[in-house]
Amino acid sequence: MALQLFNSLSRQVETFVPLDPERRSSDGRPYVGLYCCGPTVYDYGHIGNFRTFVFSDLVRRYLDFRGYGVRAVMNITDVEDKIIRRVQKSGQGLREFTSVYEKAFLEDLRTLNCQPSEMPRATDHIADMIALISKLEARGLAYRTPDGSVWFSIGNYQGCGCRYGVLKALDFSQMRAGERVAADEYEKESAADFALWKARVPEDGEVSWESPWGPGRPGWHIECSAMSMALLGPSFDLHLGGEDLAFPHHEDEIAQSEGSAMQGPGRPFVKYWLHGAHLLVEGMKMSKSLGNFFTLRDLTAKGFQGREIRQLLMSAYYRETFNFTMDGLAGARSALTRIDECVDKLGGLAGNQNAAADSTLLSAFTEAMDDDLNVARAWAVVFDWVRETNRQLAAKVMTSVQAASALAAWTQINSVLGLGRRVVEEAPADLLALAHERVLAKKAKDFAKADQLRQQVKSQGWVIEDTPAGPRLKRG
Ligand code: AMP
Ligand code: ZN
Repeated sequence: MALQLFNSLSRQVETFVPLDPERRSSDGRPYVGLYCCGPTVYDYGHIGNFRTFVFSDLVRRYLDFRGYGVRAVMNITDVEDKIIRRVQKSGQGLREFTSVYEKAFLEDLRTLNCQPSEMPRATDHIADMIALISKLEARGLAYRTPDGSVWFSIGNYQGCGCRYGVLKALDFSQMRAGERVAADEYEKESAADFALWKARVPEDGEVSWESPWGPGRPGWHIECSAMSMALLGPSFDLHLGGEDLAFPHHEDEIAQSEGSAMQGPGRPFVKYWLHGAHLLVEGMKMSKSLGNFFTLRDLTAKGFQGREIRQLLMSAYYRETFNFTMDGLAGARSALTRIDECVDKLGGLAGNQNAAADSTLLSAFTEAMDDDLNVARAWAVVFDWVRETNRQLAAKVMTSVQAASALAAWTQINSVLGLGRRVVEEAPADLLALAHERVLAKKAKDFAKADQLRQQVKSQGWVIEDTPAGPRLKRG
């Protein structure tokens, strides 16, 4: 079976065929261009954002596993309405303000082992945005208002035979010609001309650029059109983002990009649109007032590892709403432990053996993922494999060649899942010293002190295990 994807454009499952099947990437593999709307860097990323970004990384990795040479772009939105409001409040310059959150975001991506190929910043592409707006103006699809702003004309776009409302059915009955919306984010389904270039206003402070229309700044939607086309060309394979972005952001991206007519006849801006469903926390929409709002950093500060959080974030099929819970995180930890222990045992048995990857396991995994990236099905394949492997290991019926073959398949599967290997965390030196003090206390038969030392270590989140080689500390 070939890879099947649900395309929001056709609202159907389609077989994935690259836009240009003959095109090759620099490593000689069939080329795929992918763009995912990245973060708005005005705060630390929350786990909802990271569900979407981990999904995007999973798509990139799976295409790579399927033999494609993928160029995966994720932008950084470092200028838009929300950022400007925060910059004003902070009294800092734009870059000074956004660089803190951009740096944090890059660290968070590393924590989760997400590796986009390129991450353009909106403020480094202002010239591309101005050029694109100029093209739209020249084609009669954009108009100026006296304040020096430029707007996209939905009426003129439709007048050229283009359809506005391809990702979502829109109600135009309420729309009056030239009705405009200035905000980057606006009410769902209210079609209105939107801002391509926003003339400078006093509240923008220092945030403005020169343009043919006077000083101002780009609208949010034009940023993604300009950056994606600058890096991937006017027509590319896949565009991803959270479901909330389908309208108006992605609809506007299509209108701006196809309105520029740079694609050439019959070619779309994007061939496949994939939208990830949202994440709830403990059954509810995340909100600070409910106390269920978590940044990635909140979870790592609680002692969870990036790979545990990644596992949980990608445990469900991407088109289904996912309920993130603390119990789920504990479950991710034990699931990974089960996999790690199984892989360690296989490694011990395989020794230095080399063998071809177990094709039965790889086929089952591929079949699950080919079904619109149904990672929930893929996890079932992995856990069945772990159970069966453990059974065979316990019964001592597995040969070293079989173990090596299973390991080779797991390595390929894990290149998609991106869980890396277990990191054995070293306990802090002061806790190790307490554990050794406890050994001395026990030798001296001072059990009260020994117990008190064990408690002291436990209060720091570690458990002492007595082994023949001396005390060992484990996260507990
Ligand atoms: P933002 O930084 O707000 O522009 O959001 C970045 C990405 O995170 C977008 O693709 C959003 O669709 C996505 N996103 C925001 N909230 C959630 C959520 N609760 N669950 C999943 N994705 C989300
Ligand atoms: Zn975008």
